[in-house]
Amino acid sequence: MNDILVMKFGGTSMGSADRMCIAAQICADARKHSKVTIVVSAMSKITDLLLSTLRAAEEGDQEGVKENIRIIEARHVETCRELLPPDRQERVLATIRGLIEEFERISSGILMLAERPPRSVDEALAIGERLSAALMAACLESSGIAAIAINARDVVVTDSVFGNASPRMDLTSEKAAKLLLPRMGAGMIPVVTGFNGATVDNKPTTLGRGGSDFSASILASALNARELWIWTDVDGIMSADPRLVPDAAVLDIVTYREAAELAYNGAKVLHPRTIAPLVEKGIPVWSKNSFNLAAPGTKIVPHAEGVGPRAVTSMANVALISIEPASPAIQGTMLMGRVLESLGRANIEVLAFTSSSYRQSFCFLIRKDEVDAALDSLKAELALELAHEYVHPVEVNDNVGLLAVVGEGMAGHPGLAGRVFTAISAEQVNIIAIAQGSSELTISIVVRRDGLERAVKAVHAECKMGHSQ
Ligand code: ASP
Ligand code: MG
Repeated sequence: MNDILVMKFGGTSMGSADRMCIAAQICADARKHSKVTIVVSAMSKITDLLLSTLRAAEEGDQEGVKENIRIIEARHVETCRELLPPDRQERVLATIRGLIEEFERISSGILMLAERPPRSVDEALAIGERLSAALMAACLESSGIAAIAINARDVVVTDSVFGNASPRMDLTSEKAAKLLLPRMGAGMIPVVTGFNGATVDNKPTTLGRGGSDFSASILASALNARELWIWTDVDGIMSADPRLVPDAAVLDIVTYREAAELAYNGAKVLHPRTIAPLVEKGIPVWSKNSFNLAAPGTKIVPHAEGVGPRAVTSMANVALISIEPASPAIQGTMLMGRVLESLGRANIEVLAFTSSSYRQSFCFLIRKDEVDAALDSLKAELALELAHEYVHPVEVNDNVGLLAVVGEGMAGHPGLAGRVFTAISAEQVNIIAIAQGSSELTISIVVRRDGLERAVKAVHAECKMGHSQ
């Protein structure tokens, strides 16, 4: 380990000239005791705008494309003018213009083709982060801190799963050592774009929506950083969604496994893939609020003490899909295998899975916006069985919600699950499906959508979450 600190600033922390100035102050402080690399997201809402522009281009909506590009350019130009003294603006404005032209070029290609090749989409989306990195580096420089904007395409090496790439850590570490270490050694802050990377043969990729957290953890690991600090607009990881549970509290500490589970089950504060690159080296992560510097934040560590559940998450936009063989000729295990494989091929994430009963029916939970893709894939996979009625028609119930009770301290403590279920039933909320793995880290509970809020509140109160730290 060494004294390197990697910090990531999310979209809201990059959201305006004022926010960038606060990020620069945070960097100035951090630099007093560490070498610093920062990773930045695109300014808030920009990735969405870039994406909808590409969609408009695919649909042939030339006017829509033009208007969106005007908005994107204006936002960055205005931020630049607010952020920098006049003598420093020209160079950055030229960079902004250049990046906007790059985006225009890709959009016109898509307009012409009426199609969005995944590679071009990844190249185009990364422009959001390249714009914010250019602004942020200039902001640091103008406050007297040597900085350089770096396109992660030159550092983060990934596989070629466009739109959801995974890092090649060995190659990334080599590049990080070559490109970032000497600069930090010379007292500079590299400002690396979050979200993007490139394949070994330099094709542009992205790491999935919200992937800048993942970029930051990849770089923290590649650089053997002492710590990773993720700056967002909330005080840390909470014991529940505060919009549902008013007395939800910020957790001081959570474990890697808990953080990953919470993220997978809908807690918005971290990208689910953030933790994996840090595990081997045990690098601690802090989730901090750039809008409230006095709040200590949540520390995410390899192991922590604690009995019972740490937090409860909830997801409303989910659907439960049930599959049931209609003939004894169908081998249940084979059927499950094929169903899961076809979902995997369609890149659909299964949030919970349960099977039971002698008829070998099973059900699983997925995100609502993936239902159509899942059904297409399943119907193609099971076409014969469905046509010959060996399998009952696939059932979809989207009037459901998921709550996940998470905590490493649940393992080996009988009675916790009972208390959770009793608390939910005391609210007259019917439980539709349950899944708990043998690690006892998470209990996933599917309830009717209209009971979700009451169930979350009841579980939070019953387990005294947020107070038991
Ligand atoms: N800008 C990207 C997105 O909105 C990545 C990120 O913000 O983490 O998905
Ligand atoms: Mg983000």
